[in-house]
Amino acid sequence: MTRAPVTPQRNGTPGPMVSVVLPMRNEARGLDRLFARLAPALDGLDLPYEIITVDDGSTDDTLARLKAFRGEVAHLKVVTLSRNFGKEIAVTAGLARTTGDVVVVMDSDLQHPPESIPALLAPWRDQDYDLVYARRKNLDRGGLLRNAFSKAFYKAFDVMSDIRVDRETGDFTAIDRLVVDAFLAMPERNRFNRGLFAWAGFRTTTVDVVMEERHVGTSQWGFVKLMRLAIAAITSFGTLPLKIWAVIGSLISATALVYGAYVLVKTLLFGADVPGYPSLMVATMFFAGVQLIGLGIIGEYLGHVFSEVKRRPLYFVREAIGFDTPPATTAHTPGITVEEPARHGN
Ligand code: UDP
Ligand code: MG
Repeated sequence: MTRAPVTPQRNGTPGPMVSVVLPMRNEARGLDRLFARLAPALDGLDLPYEIITVDDGSTDDTLARLKAFRGEVAHLKVVTLSRNFGKEIAVTAGLARTTGDVVVVMDSDLQHPPESIPALLAPWRDQDYDLVYARRKNLDRGGLLRNAFSKAFYKAFDVMSDIRVDRETGDFTAIDRLVVDAFLAMPERNRFNRGLFAWAGFRTTTVDVVMEERHVGTSQWGFVKLMRLAIAAITSFGTLPLKIWAVIGSLISATALVYGAYVLVKTLLFGADVPGYPSLMVATMFFAGVQLIGLGIIGEYLGHVFSEVKRRPLYFVREAIGFDTPPATTAHTPGITVEEPARHGN
């Protein structure tokens, strides 16, 4: 990993502005550690910057501590959501408030080392990349089950959607303003951020980073939550799960026809057997199962359609502290604002 320092742009003009977005849910205990490492890393950039923390409905004193930190940490801004909306939306809320030319999104639990920010920004600055992902060098984390599940998810996502998402990348990214605006222009309610970024396109690259263990607290992604994200991700990026039922249905019908012909010929040649109760039961249950799975998948898509047509705002902001500009709206889709107007503190 090279740690090329990001230097201000030539001829004395102030360099590009860097925004950092930190989604937080119940991270109060780790904030000391976080800012102790983040602030020097950002100061070292020698560029103007802002730190946007998004309190995603924390139930501990994350918000109070963030407010207190505003006295110590320079350029710290705080957005509080009205309840817990989940990380994907918390990141969206943060992005909508950024003003930087480039935005670094990272977890707040120090699993994404702040010292790697310069390395992440280097391809953006030097090679004109629009989107830089940190790629986990030390890939395996979590238990055997979680890894197997994650592999299966990326495989399924690959097969079922038209876009590719690299399993070894996570949410530690440097994003050009262009891509941030493209991302915010996508108004959908079911959000899988990495899929949306991949769908938007732009020049993308990765940088190897050694990720760290969580120091305090525990991961908030239980198995069920991960499973739900996986299903939402797959069903919002492709229609293969829907279309596949036409193929399965045709195959089953063809099999049934062939089997029917066989039974007919057999009956004509050898007469009728004793009726086969077990095979009848098995066939009935099998086809009932197949139909219910198909219905379930249609239901999943219908659910998406339902939540999209309601056109509710993605989230509500309870308090926004330290901002002097109103939030970005999705300019490309008139009539839809990503968020409702918020009370502005300070
Ligand atoms: N997070 C959030 N809202 C949530 C859950 C998590 O903003 O509903 C934040 C959390 O505070 C952390 C980041 O998302 O900064 C990643 O969460 P976590 O560490 O629990 O996930 P993992 O690292 O296990 O993927
Ligand atoms: Mg974590």
